[in-house]
Amino acid sequence: MTEPKRPMKEANRISTVLNQVLGRDRFPLKVEEVAMEYSRQRFADSPVAKVDGQDLEGFDGMLTANPSRSKWLILYNSAVRSEGRKRFTIAHEFGHYMLHTDQQDRFECRDDDIETGDNNGREIETAADLFASTLLMPLDDFRRQVAGQQAGFDLLGHCADRYGVSLTAAALRWTEIAERRAVLVASRDDYMLWAKSNHAAFKSGAYFPTRKRTIEIPPTSVTHSSNCSGTYQTETVKANVWFVREPDTTPVTVMTMVSAQYDYTLTLLLMPDAEWRLPNHDDEEPLEDAYDWFVRKGQ
Ligand SMILES: [Zn+2]
Repeated sequence: MTEPKRPMKEANRISTVLNQVLGRDRFPLKVEEVAMEYSRQRFADSPVAKVDGQDLEGFDGMLTANPSRSKWLILYNSAVRSEGRKRFTIAHEFGHYMLHTDQQDRFECRDDDIETGDNNGREIETAADLFASTLLMPLDDFRRQVAGQQAGFDLLGHCADRYGVSLTAAALRWTEIAERRAVLVASRDDYMLWAKSNHAAFKSGAYFPTRKRTIEIPPTSVTHSSNCSGTYQTETVKANVWFVREPDTTPVTVMTMVSAQYDYTLTLLLMPDAEWRLPNHDDEEPLEDAYDWFVRKGQ
């Protein structure tokens, strides 16, 4: 069993070393180099000896050991064209190496395991994702990038470029530290593929149980294909268009992005805090705790 805090702790430990060696303006992370160099220094008798792209049919990534477990190999699917996804996959496999090699000596990870955390509650996959996003997008730097900036796909695009990750990965990271209730929805053909609520949204009941049932995009929403005319659209409407239990007075800002690069539509829903919630806290620790809780809940 992986202790929920450990993925972040291990990733932050590496970030601290990198900050000391390379300074703070060191992004995007050279994830292949870091996996090999860090493992060689810390676990000299069983390092990550190689990171390689191969034709992995049906898998996005793999971590495997030689028979004597003296060398580990990270493989990523060379057919995946998105550089961001490739890098996230390598970081995810490095996460298995740092966290789970006492449990298995072979990990085969499919694309639905990686990045979105939509892994049917498999704890080691959630942990490897958390390790990867913490390593690639350290919270302190991420906060500096987004502080005082207007939320939207422009800002998320900047973060995706800075960290060399996909827009989806940057958007998920952003929702974790958003000061409002935020929900990220991926949809195709007007049905949700997956949806992730940040802690504040989840706690207020604003979430979509996409694993339990099929959920359609609200037909009147700008996200719906019958209303969506461009690649990027935004609107502010009553929140209960999306979340029936929200009061009539609560607005939701909807930002929708259709991109040829992704085979789905990404929508960011932003709402003010629910009225009964306490004012936001600013310190790091409770947010991390909140995220742990969020991960444990499998959301
Ligand atoms: Zn995995």
